[in-house]
Amino acid sequence: MSHETLRSAWGNEFIRNLKVLGLTVLTIIVMFAGHWYSEGSLVLLSEAAHAVADSAGILMSLLALILVRRWRMNEKKAQTFAYYSLVALLIATIVGVAAGALYRIINPPEIHGLPVIIAAAIGCVLDYSAHRVLHGAHHHDKHRAHRALNFHYLGDIAIDGGGVLSGIIILLWGWMPADPLTSFAAALIMSVITFQLITDPDGKKTVGCTKHTHAENDDREH
Ligand SMILES: [Zn+2]
Repeated sequence: MSHETLRSAWGNEFIRNLKVLGLTVLTIIVMFAGHWYSEGSLVLLSEAAHAVADSAGILMSLLALILVRRWRMNEKKAQTFAYYSLVALLIATIVGVAAGALYRIINPPEIHGLPVIIAAAIGCVLDYSAHRVLHGAHHHDKHRAHRALNFHYLGDIAIDGGGVLSGIIILLWGWMPADPLTSFAAALIMSVITFQLITDPDGKKTVGCTKHTHAENDDREH
């Protein structure tokens, strides 16, 4: 039993991050596949780019965990490093997505709706699963405000939902601007998520992407 406790906080945190990384990498693959089969959906490309930023965020978190554990690096320093790297990546993604969307609104390409619906729906399931992985271990900590975390998830799932909707519009009515318009909306949602990450002091002290590691700090603070 004491073996279990030894492994506890750090190990669990590491494993949870690895699981979420797996789900996020899966999201990237699904979104790129959907982008390919739809012959150019920008929404799916935007989601893929966002998932890449999220993955990088988790990798930073894992790196921070290793730095703290192996080299006894100052925990705050490691977290700050992970935090600013993620914010920079998210902002770069937003700028890219918004620019791409504006360009495409003027001249939207013909794409297929069905692959967009399927990929975005799978993205919804994957985002929700990642959310469960992180929150499953923390039911006893419900009193803790995980606002930034919940916010990121709500945002990601909203973007997935927007993807499904744009796919339906394209499939039923062939209205192509739905794709870049949804991408632009996604960029706005990502901006809100990032703004929340910057301004929320609760989110600020967490390692990397709040989505992925926010909950874990509770383990160590007690
Ligand atoms: Zn995300």
